[in-house]
Amino acid sequence: MAIVLHTAAWLVPVAALPIKKGAVAVAAGKIVAVGPLAEVQARFPGVATHDHGEAALTPALINAHSHLELAHLHELSQQPHVGSFTAWVAKLLALRSQKGDNGAASAALAECRRLYDEGVSVLADIGNSDLPLDLMDRFPGRLLAFHEYLGITERDSDRNRARLQLEADSRLCSAHAPYSTHPALLQALKSRARRLGQILPIHVAEPPEELELLRSGGGEMAAFSRARAQDELHFQPAVAPTEGSIHYLYRLGLLDAETLCVHAVHLSEAELDILAGTGAKVCLCPGSNRFLGVGSAPVLRFLAHGILPALGTDSSASNPELSLWREMRLLAETPGLKPETIFAMATLGGAAALGLDRDFGSLAVGKSADMILVPLDRAVPDPAGLMQALVSPPGRHVIKRIAP
Ligand SMILES: [Zn+2]
Repeated sequence: MAIVLHTAAWLVPVAALPIKKGAVAVAAGKIVAVGPLAEVQARFPGVATHDHGEAALTPALINAHSHLELAHLHELSQQPHVGSFTAWVAKLLALRSQKGDNGAASAALAECRRLYDEGVSVLADIGNSDLPLDLMDRFPGRLLAFHEYLGITERDSDRNRARLQLEADSRLCSAHAPYSTHPALLQALKSRARRLGQILPIHVAEPPEELELLRSGGGEMAAFSRARAQDELHFQPAVAPTEGSIHYLYRLGLLDAETLCVHAVHLSEAELDILAGTGAKVCLCPGSNRFLGVGSAPVLRFLAHGILPALGTDSSASNPELSLWREMRLLAETPGLKPETIFAMATLGGAAALGLDRDFGSLAVGKSADMILVPLDRAVPDPAGLMQALVSPPGRHVIKRIAP
């Protein structure tokens, strides 16, 4: 079995401290050793060593939430959004029905290739159409294509539950959001995911309107949904005035270690306790949250509860610049949040959220040797300076890939 060594000025294993002049030994696409170059070379004498110079060798990135099928609607995010989240949803639906699928496939393909080129190897993508399925073969990394379900009226819920029964077992499915998806449909999606051992992503606590709807049965989102429904639609308060989306999902039986709560902006301490207790995963989308003005997720509180969130770009329709590096940069503005934690979110957090941490997310023996090289502009003196350099520079890093 051919063994190859890769070394660079810095090695970032993620689950361990960065190693100056560290090395990884690779055989058949798997990592067989990680450590300082001298130690790894001593273990494998005479083996070819590729020295990648003034760069950081890290695991590939994981984008745990995107909507490639909206890539052709990026004009929505190219000027500031004024108004509520509900107003943005109305704009999105109007533009989508006006444009149809025109340009959708080519924009989605270009977008996922761009993400790959900037170091993303695993992409969890949500779509209402089959477009993401068609991209699975064309994305050079691993694309998890989730078929999204929604429908808030009784009739839509019944119709969609019948549709769900016809899905092939291999198809991944996701739930849209508590404000848009009938509780019976949410439960059907979760019980199917549980039966098949699949992850169930769901947008949770993204707009303040969701909380208002669940607590009071009213507000802007309720009015919007009533206006769109072709049926009678009555909302009742679904949680107590002090409770929120996580209480609601918990009581529906939706939360366990295979549920991925995306956004998770408006959460109380009690809800963080529930998340920690159930082991439910969290994916933050700071760029989209900022663009839509819905608030920012309590990232330090998640960490205090032992939850390492994943990171996602969300779609081009709500994010002016689709780049996981930019998501990290935005998080780096959070006082008290360490750069190494941010980088762990973009790698190990994503892998764990998608149930792929046996293979991805860190450089460790037995894992996939799916690595990227991030050039360093100048020599960095210590691990702290290195991690700062990785997560905060403006623009995109120019990435070199090391094929596993
Ligand atoms: Zn989304």
